[in-house]
Amino acid sequence: MAQLAGKAAIVTGGASGIGEACSETLAREGAAVLVTDVDDTLGKAVVGRIAKAGGKAAYLHHDVRDEATWPGVIAEAEKRFGRLDIMVANAGIGIMSLIETMTLADWQRQQAINLDGVFLSIKHSIPAMRKAGGGSIVLMSSIAGLRGAPSLAAYSATKGGVRLLAKSVALEYAEDKIRCNSVHPGIIATPIWGKIPTGAEGNRRNAPIDPRERAAAAVPLTRVGEAQDIANGVLFLCTDAASYVTGQELVIDGGMTAGGRAQRRS
Ligand code: NAP
Repeated sequence: MAQLAGKAAIVTGGASGIGEACSETLAREGAAVLVTDVDDTLGKAVVGRIAKAGGKAAYLHHDVRDEATWPGVIAEAEKRFGRLDIMVANAGIGIMSLIETMTLADWQRQQAINLDGVFLSIKHSIPAMRKAGGGSIVLMSSIAGLRGAPSLAAYSATKGGVRLLAKSVALEYAEDKIRCNSVHPGIIATPIWGKIPTGAEGNRRNAPIDPRERAAAAVPLTRVGEAQDIANGVLFLCTDAASYVTGQELVIDGGMTAGGRAQRRS
């Protein structure tokens, strides 16, 4: 029996990488999934693959920063699927810069997508989940939300914020049977690494980062993480098997944070 039969989910940033794997995994386990993203081509392709595999999904263009359009996203899930049980607040970007040369515009863009967007995902899904009798909210943080990340100060500030947001939301809505947890990936091979802004304003890296190369040097399990490794953890947090798990951090990093080895800046 599929673990999420009869459930409905929204996955933000669901067109690519970890969000794509989460969308496909939740759908494979029986959830109806509303995939939202700003990349319409990839988002529609994800939904096409889910449908081809016999799952139920729809795509909606949505920028997580835009509060005015959030009620329409929730309404779309309820209209199509009749309910909302699961929110995977996954959309995120990474901007790499030393703090002293980071522009305020880059800092604010980083916060707007990774932290404001997560806040809005939670805020607008709570009433629908209460109507459904409860739910599971999964926030995509990072190991950069657990410890400092040289050259990624703004990113780590957002991910640390997400970590504590999950705990506070868990406490606020426990009586509504709405659980909220954060997931902390390590180095995962997704397209995000190729999108890290490079050099444009003279304050950023000017060489692309290869996650496999980075993982080879830093991951105790000696391999880079795959998006499916993260989707497996997200799936667990969405199922009844996790019905007593809330306000917690699920770290999926091949052991990277198990030790105390310091990292140097990139
Ligand atoms: P990804 O492959 O780049 O996927 C992220 C998706 O979110 C992209 O389709 C992106 O579209 C979309 N997006 C960006 N801004 C958005 C916005 N304002 N509204 C809606 N969608 C937006 O990245 P990923 O590696 O899967 O990352 C997913 C999450 O995992 C992020 O929160 C990231 O910080 C976190 N994470 C990743 C890693 C890793 O090693 N990959 C490690 C730790 C944490 P565009 O491509 O058009 O921007």
